[in-house]
Amino acid sequence: MQRRHFLKTTGIASLGLTAAGSVSANPDGDTYRPGGPKQGSANSINLNAFHTNEELTKALTKVEQRSGRVSLEEIARSAGRNDPVWEVKVGNGDTKVHLITQIHGDEPTGTEVALKVIKQLGLSDSKQVDHILDNLSFTIIPRVNPYGAMYHYDYNGDGSEEWIARRQNTQAWEEGDSRYEPYYHYDSPGGDPGYDMNRDFNVRPPSEFNPRTDDEASWWGEDEEAMHMPYEGHTLFASGLRLAPEIRGVTESFNETDPDYAITHHHKGGNLYPGSGDGNKPAKQTLLSVMASYGESYLDRSPFFPDDHTPVSQAVNPFLDEETSTRSIKLNSLVIEALAERGNSVFDSVTRYGYYPLWGSYLDGMCPNFANGGDSVPGMLYETAYQTDDLGQKALGRMLQLTSVGFLESFEALADDPSLGDTSVETYFDTPLYGEGIQRRR
Ligand SMILES: [Zn+2]
Repeated sequence: MQRRHFLKTTGIASLGLTAAGSVSANPDGDTYRPGGPKQGSANSINLNAFHTNEELTKALTKVEQRSGRVSLEEIARSAGRNDPVWEVKVGNGDTKVHLITQIHGDEPTGTEVALKVIKQLGLSDSKQVDHILDNLSFTIIPRVNPYGAMYHYDYNGDGSEEWIARRQNTQAWEEGDSRYEPYYHYDSPGGDPGYDMNRDFNVRPPSEFNPRTDDEASWWGEDEEAMHMPYEGHTLFASGLRLAPEIRGVTESFNETDPDYAITHHHKGGNLYPGSGDGNKPAKQTLLSVMASYGESYLDRSPFFPDDHTPVSQAVNPFLDEETSTRSIKLNSLVIEALAERGNSVFDSVTRYGYYPLWGSYLDGMCPNFANGGDSVPGMLYETAYQTDDLGQKALGRMLQLTSVGFLESFEALADDPSLGDTSVETYFDTPLYGEGIQRRR
């Protein structure tokens, strides 16, 4: 297991890239260590505040029944427990938004926010919602990783199973599943191995390429842990293999939607806002970080701009053209501005997550949109902080409310102007990168 250590623990550092902030060891659970209990992250959250799979299914079904404008479809079943993965469609507009949450099972707030938004869009008769639904069409997958979300094991060794949500799905790798067992397949202290599914995507469409069988031995590194797939003149480092049925479902959903925008929601660890805490003011946390995916036209703004012979495909996504890249950055600017206008202290601390491509991730694997002729899609990632000691249960509720309001406000602005013509890219680049532990979860 030690030989697979490098990608798990050092990730981007192993590429010879350096962030604006240092890439530090993570005490917060991102760097999963086989054989040892997962640290921190899941346990800092009271999971009882979140919907179980049964409750989520019930809530979505209820909205569909009451709404008349929401449709609910099961697009996959989870590996292991055979839980449904739901896709929700709502809206009649020309601009299509694809939104996924909780691809990491221990990152549950996005699902709660998505559910709030689905209820608003499905049941509200406000002018704001009418306007949004006239102009936008949503495809929302509110919990990509239902088994990870509900994972139980005997964490304390006391003979009873605790609900310990986890990052991975639950799926064994067996000989013949792919040429080699990929680096993003993990053992588990609970006994069930599984995949980090945000490393399992592949840019090449299923209709033309199956990464499980159509790869070549020479694409794999000497360590035989990651497939570095050549494509269109680039080497796509650590491409995914679409081994998880959940990811095959999301891929199909995305390709059928052919969206104009793609959004994904994650968690991050607790981080301080850069420069806060000077003088008499206490340091404040950054509770939300955002990230745009972009291509070579913004290479010089990349925090991972190669300063040696690093390939472009390790600093930016070369399949995102300038127009797409600009809209991706503007979508992030829009959200930053919409939240700043709320004037609430929870969201005056938005930071930026330094972008570099993860070729097996949803944004980098799907947004090139080769299934639809390579008409690339702007992408955005939200990362909200975990509930921490100074953010109690009430504050969590307030944060969920604010996040859903932030979502709806940015959707309203997107409905006003799908091209985001008036939004400035500079808002995004003026937003500080969050420093210590910058590449934590995603
Ligand atoms: Zn995540």
